[in-house]
Amino acid sequence: MNVEPRVDGGGMMNYRKNLERKARHAERLAREDAAGKLSVHAPDLKDFSISIDETPRSGSATGGTRYIRRVVIASAPALFVLPCSDPRCEDGGYDVTAEFLAALAYRRTVFEGQRSCPGRSSMHDCGRVLRYVATAAYHDEKKAPS
Ligand SMILES: [Zn+2]
Repeated sequence: MNVEPRVDGGGMMNYRKNLERKARHAERLAREDAAGKLSVHAPDLKDFSISIDETPRSGSATGGTRYIRRVVIASAPALFVLPCSDPRCEDGGYDVTAEFLAALAYRRTVFEGQRSCPGRSSMHDCGRVLRYVATAAYHDEKKAPS
């Protein structure tokens, strides 16, 4: 596909930014596709939520973010990349897929961890730190046929 760049209106910068955003979105969808469904990787999983506490590298009390993400198991991909909450951060985010899938495979009900953002923000390493506590509930082990 050959798309001529537009030089009017928002200008090249916005156009490029948009292209990058679209490319990143498409890349993410492709990764989610390749990862498959969470319900396939963890068929016993009944309920799964992640409590997240993210703080800036400086250790200052301000600028932190706290939220809880409830995972919709029926539709979720087996891919856990939590976003970096710094809007200036480029290529940031926290890929906790491997440790999450491993913990779920062991039917762990509570597990936690910590990770720092590998992205870059205004010419510096982003370095935000994310701590998570994940809580999972599972269906009973295979029930005896009645
Ligand atoms: Zn970041």
